[in-house]
Order: sequence, then structure tokens, then C-alpha cells
Amino acid sequence: MHLEFFGAAGEVTGSCHILHVGSRTLLLDCGMIQGGDSPDERNRQAFPFDAAGLDAVILSHAHIDHCGRLPLLCKRGFRGPIHATAACRDLARILLADSASMAERDAERENRKRAADRNPRRVEPLYTVADAADTVRRFVVHPYDQPVELASGIRVTFRDAGHILGSASVLLDLEEQGLRWRVLFSGDIGQFDSPILRDPVTHDAVDTVLMESTYGNRRHRDRAATVDELGAILQTARGNGGNVLMPAFAVGRSQDLLYELGTHFAAWRLADWQIFLDSPLAIEASKVYWAHPELYDEAATAARERGTSLPPIPNLHLTRTPEESMAINRIAHGALVIAGSGMCTGGRIVHHLKHNISRPECDIVFTGFQAQGTLGRAIVDHREYVRIHGSPFKVAARVHTLGGFSAHGDQEDLLRWYGALAGKPAVWLVHGEADGAGGLRDALRAQGATAEVARPGLRIGPEVHA
Ligand SMILES: [Zn+2]
Repeated sequence: MHLEFFGAAGEVTGSCHILHVGSRTLLLDCGMIQGGDSPDERNRQAFPFDAAGLDAVILSHAHIDHCGRLPLLCKRGFRGPIHATAACRDLARILLADSASMAERDAERENRKRAADRNPRRVEPLYTVADAADTVRRFVVHPYDQPVELASGIRVTFRDAGHILGSASVLLDLEEQGLRWRVLFSGDIGQFDSPILRDPVTHDAVDTVLMESTYGNRRHRDRAATVDELGAILQTARGNGGNVLMPAFAVGRSQDLLYELGTHFAAWRLADWQIFLDSPLAIEASKVYWAHPELYDEAATAARERGTSLPPIPNLHLTRTPEESMAINRIAHGALVIAGSGMCTGGRIVHHLKHNISRPECDIVFTGFQAQGTLGRAIVDHREYVRIHGSPFKVAARVHTLGGFSAHGDQEDLLRWYGALAGKPAVWLVHGEADGAGGLRDALRAQGATAEVARPGLRIGPEVHA
């Protein structure tokens, strides 16, 4: 038996590892490659295995960089089960449908362009909405902490990873010809003390750990200080007489923000605002969060009231249609808008920016990472002018960047997670760029652990420890 690193080895997206036990072949995750050089081409490449011959997939969580190529796998002949938690399936349903309709729209746009250029070659979308729906039917769901025998010699247990709702670390108890191997795949590890979700703790004694390292060399700003800062910004903003825009990722960040607004509703005097969750995707994701109270931490459980969001926000408007969204732009002051995309690369937030970014009485609050080359990055870098839909806009609104809201643990969280494991199992670092993975490797070694950065194509087994 052995594990082979395929994706998210030496980079942060495209999570995918191949597990061979006896005659069985399974995948851990099957994520989309995002960013970097020609991701679309890389996503379309052949898998280094026969999709039809795979026995099963075990999915850690619903982020697209972990599940985004599952519909492609099904399209190429995979007919086995996809094992995950129920909340992971519910979020994957929304995110895969969104990813598929985006792929269809992109292909249509490209084909219209090619037709105009008299280019007879047509592009196919990576996969379709129908492929995504077919994929979701393959899910088999399991609760946390209950070992499940997937096949002889392969037992899996999902542990809460505290990253997004339903996210899991995957504990594998493997056996082949009397040889046993206990592997823990971390998935993405959340921050300790993040809202709604439980802490990412597991106390298992294992032989080998595959561990994410996205922020392996970084420290996040303190979360409590970040929340206080948000409160201060909103209270000042109300006096300024403009609107507040909060670009946010649909899954995780939007729900975190609603949770903080609900929790501090009175203290931050939010009754005076009109609050909008202006994203059909974030609305659907929020409904999944509200439908799984069994997964909440203690504070969220206490804050929950029957039949409402947690905690309730009486002046929250869920705007689904484009007309409802456009109507927000007629509001001159007192609108607090949470909308996507998180990096302002598209979506409704871009329209709201056009209407508000040049008004000095407005505030724009960023709570997530802004990648190089995005509109969000240009704004947080305090450019005097930014281009939106081809036209220049002066940045006159106040711009705030809040650092403590990450869904990923920082180096301290990652070391704390590792430290809770029994013994000092060997670690292979995945899901990190060179700095993150290298930083975490050095920090783990300083604590006496053996740690190596994984490379694509590398195989490890029970006899090979880092
Ligand atoms: Zn993730």
C-alpha cells in the first residue's frame, strides 16, 4: 500500500492524493487548480489514473480547490461513491453547480468570440451543470467520529477540521497483508476560536500525517481585536453618512460576518442600517449553515434561535434577484452590503463599487486575502484610481483591511493542531507554497518532529517515514 502525491503538492490548489491499498485505488480530494499559469489547461489534463477504475473518493471539504474536479472525474467514467460529511455534500452541491454554470458561461462567451472571428473550433466547458448534479448523486455521507469500513483493509473516520461547515480531517486505518498503516490527512485546518465552528482538534495516534501549510509561515492578527476594529469602523461609518461595502467569499466568510453582526447588533447600533446579503450563492450557503446546528460550537448553539439565522438580524435583507440587487444602488446612505466576489474579480460587489467607491462618505471593508492582479488588491494597495468595467474610478471611499478573519489556521494554530496528536508522527506538508510549507517544516523540526514538503509524484508507504 502507498500514497502518491498528485495535486496541491508544492502549491495551494488542486488538492488530490492517490491511495493504493491492495487492489483498491482511492482519491483523497479531487480539487480544481486555481490561479497560476494556464489553470484551465492544467485542469483539463488527463488524470494519472483511470477514472473508471477508481474505487472511491474521500472528500475533506467543499471548497472548490478540494472538490472542483469531481464532476470531471465523473464525466471521465468514475462511478464509485464520494465519501464526505452531510454538510460537506450540501455545500458541494451549491459550489459545484456554481462552478459548472461559470464554466458553461465562459465556454459560451469564448464560442461567441470564435464565431465572430470565423474560427470554426469550439470549446467545451470543463463540465456542465448536469455533470455537477450527477456528481452530487454519488455522495455517501457520514457523521464525524464514526469509523466506517469502506473496503477490507480501509477504514475511514472524519474528524472536525473547523475550517468551513462540514470540513474534515480524514483518519485512515489501512491494512494490507498484516501490515498496518495509520494516516491522518488534515484537509484544511481552521483557526481555533473562530465563530460558529468547533475547534480543529484531533488526538489520534497515527504513523503519518499529510498536513496543510497554507499559512505555515504566518501569524494572523488576533481575532478579538479584528472584531473590535470592525465594530469601530461600522459605528464611525454610520456618522459619515454613506454606505459600507464588504466584499466576502460566499462560503464561510459571509456567515462569519453575519454572525459577528448578529452578536454585536445592539453594541454596534446596527438597527439603524439596512443590511444586505447580496449574493444568491452566499444566501444558499447560509441556509446550509443554518440547517446544521448540530455542528455549532457552544457560543453559536447558545446564540441560535429557532427558525432564524444565528443570531437573528431583524433588518437583514436576502437579495436574490438582479432587480433587488440593483435597487440597493438607489440607497445613498445606511446600506451595509455583503456581496461577492471576495476579491472583487466579478459578481455584484463590482456594481456596488462603481456606485460608491468615489464617494468619500463611504467605507469599503476587506476581510479576506486579495491576490495580486485583482481589483480588490488594487483597492487595498490604495491606488488613486482603479479600473472597473474598463473605466477609471477615483478611490475616495475609506478602505479598511481586517486581518483576523481567515478560515485557515496560522502557524500557531497548525502547531497546536499537530501538538494535540499523540506521539510525534512523521509529517508530509501539502497545500502550501514554498514559503508556507518551508516555514511550517522548519517550525515542526524545531519541535523535534520529522517533516518534509511533499512533491508531485512522490510515493510514501508505511515503511517510508519522512
Ligand atoms: Zn478550504
